[in-house]
Amino acid sequence: MTTAWRPATGRRRVAVISAHTSPLATLGGRETGGMNVYVRELSRELGARGYAIDVYTRRDSAGAPEVQPIGPNARVIHVDAGPARTIEKEAIALHLDEFERNVRAFAARDRAAYDLVHSHYWMSGVAGAQLAAAWDAPHVVMFHTLAEVKMRARLSESEPPARIAAERAIAGAASAIVVASDHEKRLLTSLYGAGEARINVVPCGVDLDLFTPSDKRQARLALGLREGERIILFVGRIEPLKGIDILISAAAQLHDDENFKVLIVGGDARAAAEVDQLRELAERLGIDHHVSFVGAVEHGKLPLYYNAADVCVVPSYYESFGLVAVESMACGTPVVASRVGGLTSTISDGQTGYLIPWRCPEPFAERLELLLDNDELRASFGQAARQAVERFRWANVADAVSDVYDALLANGPDGGSTTDEAAAR
Ligand code: UDP
Repeated sequence: MTTAWRPATGRRRVAVISAHTSPLATLGGRETGGMNVYVRELSRELGARGYAIDVYTRRDSAGAPEVQPIGPNARVIHVDAGPARTIEKEAIALHLDEFERNVRAFAARDRAAYDLVHSHYWMSGVAGAQLAAAWDAPHVVMFHTLAEVKMRARLSESEPPARIAAERAIAGAASAIVVASDHEKRLLTSLYGAGEARINVVPCGVDLDLFTPSDKRQARLALGLREGERIILFVGRIEPLKGIDILISAAAQLHDDENFKVLIVGGDARAAAEVDQLRELAERLGIDHHVSFVGAVEHGKLPLYYNAADVCVVPSYYESFGLVAVESMACGTPVVASRVGGLTSTISDGQTGYLIPWRCPEPFAERLELLLDNDELRASFGQAARQAVERFRWANVADAVSDVYDALLANGPDGGSTTDEAAAR
């Protein structure tokens, strides 16, 4: 029997690396979405159950305090890496060495000895691998998205070769990898050659108390929406991979062409060019008066939108998990989504929503019409959807991730982990 190794204080310390984006960032920007929610919620859950969680992120504003608590035993630490303002994600990769040095400097000043490093996204993985080596701690990584997968999902996507090489190296050497779906596990093994034994499938969570069904009329009243109108909702980052153009083109094919509204939630100043293109598309298709670009909405206010909507559309080219679909389902609003990635494990086609195998407007329009024209079908899908997502709780995510940590820490600070290279010897 192995005895779990614990630091002298009895409290395990985890350095969470979220280099390019902060769990405190405003959501719905071009780069801020599911991963920010994930890091924030998981850190809070793990902190509440006694881990000491330090989330290290790049300082992107001069005014941000060095240390900011986000819950019991959980704090965000801003470290300098490049200019203290928002910069392009690609540029952040040039400052990872500085980021890593400053994390180590902070930890030394703070006398923080970490038992484990947990990195999110490839850039954090690069810094996290170095930190874990320096601290002789196991390295857990979650990629959230993978370059090879993005490029296969949408042919015009391009990613720097350095990213793919880095992902390969991180995947090969990490003590453990967390993925949100079986689908991603398969891709990591087939495209990146990662060893299956180190990959842990942990579905994401949703705050089921926040995202809960409520009165549609009240929600519409609160948002200034008409009662009898059909409301089609999109929520998410405004970027090509989300397939918002497919949604707009599908909406243009709805036969009942006067009584519907497409609400597009998400997007900040950095998404302006993309929003302009989508507006032009709506104009060209003659439905601009049906499409509203709402901008980013505070996470806590989103339940109003999901409840006001008749149907939520997730037309993405790829989703590693797809939190928006689960949030909508938790509010009892059925989803019409692409049959891609994690969405295939959260939505049951024909029971809680519809999964569309083709990335083209016609089948989306067809399923949208079917749902919008049939109140009973929507109600029954909505009820089934809420039931289906009861299993996705942040507490479950924290349980599973804590099991991954326990397994690594059971054999002491080296984690007893086996990299692919070591396994091959
Ligand atoms: N989100 C938000 N406000 C917005 C737009 C999005 O709070 O204006 C949140 C949304 O509720 C969800 C996350 O951003 O929790 C998006 O996650 P998802 O997994 O759907 O997409 P990703 O960003 O990971 O591609």
